[in-house]
Amino acid sequence: MTDLSSSAASPRPTVAVIGGGYAGVNVAKALDDVADVVLVEPKDAFVHNVAALRALVDPSWLPRIYLPYDRLLANGRVVRDRAAKVDAGHVTLASGEQIRPDYIVLATGSAYPFPAKSDLDSAAASHDKVRAAHTALSAAQRVLLLGAGPVGIELAGEIKSAWPGKHVTLLDVADDVLGARFRPELKAELRRQLGDIGVELLLSSPLAEDPPTPPGELRTFTVVTQAGTEVTADIWFRCFGVVPASDYLVGGLASARRPDGFVEVRPDLRVVGQDRVFAVGDVSAADHNMAGIAGRQAQLAAGNIRALITGDGDLKTHQPSAAAIVVPIGPQGGSGQRPDSDLLLTPEVVAELKGRDLMVERFAEMLGHTGPTGR
Ligand SMILES: Cc1cc2nc3c(=O)[nH]c(=O)nc-3n(C[C@H](O)[C@H](O)[C@H](O)COP(=O)(O)OP(=O)(O)OC[C@H]3O[C@@H](n4cnc5c(N)ncnc54)[C@H](O)[C@@H]3O)c2cc1C
Repeated sequence: MTDLSSSAASPRPTVAVIGGGYAGVNVAKALDDVADVVLVEPKDAFVHNVAALRALVDPSWLPRIYLPYDRLLANGRVVRDRAAKVDAGHVTLASGEQIRPDYIVLATGSAYPFPAKSDLDSAAASHDKVRAAHTALSAAQRVLLLGAGPVGIELAGEIKSAWPGKHVTLLDVADDVLGARFRPELKAELRRQLGDIGVELLLSSPLAEDPPTPPGELRTFTVVTQAGTEVTADIWFRCFGVVPASDYLVGGLASARRPDGFVEVRPDLRVVGQDRVFAVGDVSAADHNMAGIAGRQAQLAAGNIRALITGDGDLKTHQPSAAAIVVPIGPQGGSGQRPDSDLLLTPEVVAELKGRDLMVERFAEMLGHTGPTGR
């Protein structure tokens, strides 16, 4: 068993960042100059999952959304391993290795059904899985998407943009698209655009049973809604189900884990009852599950850890975000809402903000793969 802690040999405190998603890479990079950062992540590359649905319909995007960690940190280390047990001041990795850091940042995010997020740790294996699903989807004529939230809407738009001739059914138990906290006018606009590209919406339509085939597999099936409507499709995908990754918390940290798996934090993003453990991003109960919010929380937590390390400045607090969203429907369509405006985002603005390049450049730069030091 190896002890990976370095604080005994170094005057700099050790910060263990658990998870290298949007929140984790932000925190790790922000503290690299002031602490010995150890980023623990089982995947061999950062996954820019915001662009994952585009990669399903166009796998040429894959290399741009799986970004190796080797250029993220100038000083710190990325340890390719999974945290098996984390308590205050003590991290046990799946390999058995131990870290005894001065600070811990929980940034393990959430799982989501494929293809929106990947459950594989190897980028090469993930690429193969996406390419296999792409091949199956290419051959399907009728596609069923379960869940008309942001992911279902976006995937319907991607499929219809890539293959206008395919029949796409978007089905949800709810009586409208997108989710309760967004504006009725935005939902109406998204429904209108989906209708314009020929997506069939089946709302208020719980299925009597899940499809008999695994998601992403090419095999024709028929399912029936509880109201008796039959849907025949050749392939389906599940577009709902965020599951926070927090089952590794033990001891004092386990008591901060809510029954739904999200971790309770104070406004300064420290885990309740803890002075030196923070939780940021999807795994934290502080706010909604969005990459943009994960990034802002990461910056705030990093600033607070810096203040604790240097003794300089007060801890800042996170203000939960007002409802805001950008929903592309293909590279050129979609809509969205901002907290600072009553106007909906036009398709042109959505394309500019997200739909066209899906923010790949921003994350390539953060991971050191573009810009002056990038390849
Ligand atoms: C298709 C899609 C599109 C989206 N589009 C947008 C968008 O346009 N804008 C937006 O703001 N949000 C968007 N989101 C939401 C966004 O992706 C999430 O909010 C974001 O992934 C949260 O980042 P995170 O760092 O908290 O967690 P994650 O991105 O889930 O990263 C967590 C990391 O922790 C690692 N991990 C898990 N368990 C362990 C462990 N035990 N030990 C070590 N490491 C571990 C994982 O491997 C992973 O790399 C989208 C989501 C999807 C699915």
